[in-house]
Amino acid sequence: MDDYRKMYEKSVNPETAEAFWGEQATRFIDWIRPFDTVRMGGFEVGDHAWFVGGQMNVSSSCLDKHLPKLASKPAIVWEADEPGTCETLTYLDVLHGTCRIANALKVTGAAKGDFVTIYMPMMPDTAMAMLACTRIGAPHTVVFAGFTASSLRDRILDSQSKWVLTSDVGKRGSKTIKLKEITDAAVSQCPKVQKIFVFKRTGEEVPTNRDVDVHMDELLPKMRPYCPPTPVAAEDTLFTLYTSGSTGKPKGVAHAAAGYLLQAAMTCLYSFDLRETDVFACVADVGWITGHSYIVYGPLCNGATTVMFESVPTYPDPGRYWDLVDRHGVTVFYTAPTAIRALMAHGEAPVKKYSRASLRILGTVGEPINPEAWRWYYEVVGDKRCSIVDTYWQTETGGHVMTPLPGVTPMKPGSCCLPFFGVVPKVLDSQTGAELRETAVDGVLAFGQSWPGACRTVWGDHERYMNTYLLPYPPNYFTGDGCRRDEDGYFWIMGRIDDVLNTSGHRIGTAEVESALVAHQAVAQAATVGYPHDIKGQGICCYLELTKGYEESPELIKELKGAVRSAIGPFATPDLIIAVPLPKTRSGKIMRRILRKVAAGEESQLGDVTTLADPTVVDALITKVKKVQ
Ligand code: ATP
Ligand code: MG
Repeated sequence: MDDYRKMYEKSVNPETAEAFWGEQATRFIDWIRPFDTVRMGGFEVGDHAWFVGGQMNVSSSCLDKHLPKLASKPAIVWEADEPGTCETLTYLDVLHGTCRIANALKVTGAAKGDFVTIYMPMMPDTAMAMLACTRIGAPHTVVFAGFTASSLRDRILDSQSKWVLTSDVGKRGSKTIKLKEITDAAVSQCPKVQKIFVFKRTGEEVPTNRDVDVHMDELLPKMRPYCPPTPVAAEDTLFTLYTSGSTGKPKGVAHAAAGYLLQAAMTCLYSFDLRETDVFACVADVGWITGHSYIVYGPLCNGATTVMFESVPTYPDPGRYWDLVDRHGVTVFYTAPTAIRALMAHGEAPVKKYSRASLRILGTVGEPINPEAWRWYYEVVGDKRCSIVDTYWQTETGGHVMTPLPGVTPMKPGSCCLPFFGVVPKVLDSQTGAELRETAVDGVLAFGQSWPGACRTVWGDHERYMNTYLLPYPPNYFTGDGCRRDEDGYFWIMGRIDDVLNTSGHRIGTAEVESALVAHQAVAQAATVGYPHDIKGQGICCYLELTKGYEESPELIKELKGAVRSAIGPFATPDLIIAVPLPKTRSGKIMRRILRKVAAGEESQLGDVTTLADPTVVDALITKVKKVQ
């Protein structure tokens, strides 16, 4: 802890920060031309910039840099959807694959600065496609391959991509997703797209349009497996990525090449205590920032072995993750609370069936993790031997901004603990914006100064960037999340600020109520929202999904109300408890915005629901709530 505190101090103190960050940038990144200025600008107008004057190439810092020593080390271990099907690619294999794709893009006409949309399943070609874009200095926009044609179209149009990479189909939990067909439908409304590059996943027949389609299985063997890296400026846009859309229309978050890579690589090293022999499995999808930073860029920049998992945690059965861990000797495993809770509902047997002896560190990200799920992860999955790292961050932050360091930071279940290097968290009064300086306080979470991985703009709309992040509480970056800092200075994320309830004058974090509910055996998932209430100001409405084998009944509802009352206090007693399938985004987050609107009887103003995994749950929800109210 002493070392952490010293290093942290160096990283944020104005007198030492530049030396600190200059050193880190040299350690992780291969510079083609060294930078002149470590950092400039700030949050006042959003011109913060890092390593200015420097030129580099992200793919060469992830691949070429390692070749002298690690050419034959496994870089990517692919676990396909079909159980038992896997493939290992060495660093040299990945460099060759990346270069062939880069050359294919070039011969077709793609050039530095052109946007490329990637709509592909979780297979090694996808990681190599991302790296190939960085090789030629073309920013990529990866779109999660579960999105519909209209969502894909919107992202292609917004990023003005001329090139789209896809595959014949995708596979997930034995289901086939017709990616090429969906891409065709999307591209038919995108006049600027010049070519669709089609990779083979299963090789099945798909519709072809010879004018537009480039078949990669025919073109790639003709390409040279070396392509010189195109130098890009440190501040050139590496990629844009759309947020998950929990709170409204997704934002096209833009990241800068060098600062982002440094954030991804450095957090990957420290938050997971990465070692040379580690097999690192982040089971997210590359369509999300978690996949960008901790499947592709972070592990590869560190020369680690990264696992790409194509399937879902319950296929063919709920032991899939632990089977994966045993077969590949996974040492670091990283997933989301939603997956942990879903697996908890199946009990311990599918976990205990496997040894999991290789596991060292378990990570979580995406939502506040309720202490109940935290303990299950720690005790059942990790056999109380593994550190849990609860990493708090956002698409916009590029990499972790608050996290314990495994083996270093004393853990507290449900807390993301302390800031990462360079990050200055502030707890602000939501009304006045004044900084609350006492140790134990709650308020909104903001960051006081730029860190290398902070996003630089919303693509094509810097005004929206300013309005969303930098202008609400100037001169700070506003996270949109509420938090509590405890007497030890540990941070607890309470969820999004509009998720904090005010009932009869009490401020209640929705995460607290949900924790109390999911601690009951009958509850698998819970989401709490406020709704207008004549007397209390806001009433507390809890939606839940029940564990298999439980039925909704007046007795159960009464018991659950009692559980919340005894966990938090009588003022937090739910007014309504409704069992119903929850609306979730495609990244598995509960869309509370919809639940809020429905509880308030404003179902005509639901807004954008295209990022929902299953839009049909909305009608079922409305019907059920009407009945209960
Ligand atoms: P949108 O910004 O479009 O509404 P989103 O915020 O869900 O979507 P992401 O960038 O994927 O998009 O998610 C970041 C958010 O996830 C954080 O702001 C926070 O609310 C939540 N989050 C992530 N990790 C944690 C964590 N470890 N603990 C608590 N909350 C977390
Ligand atoms: Mg967000």
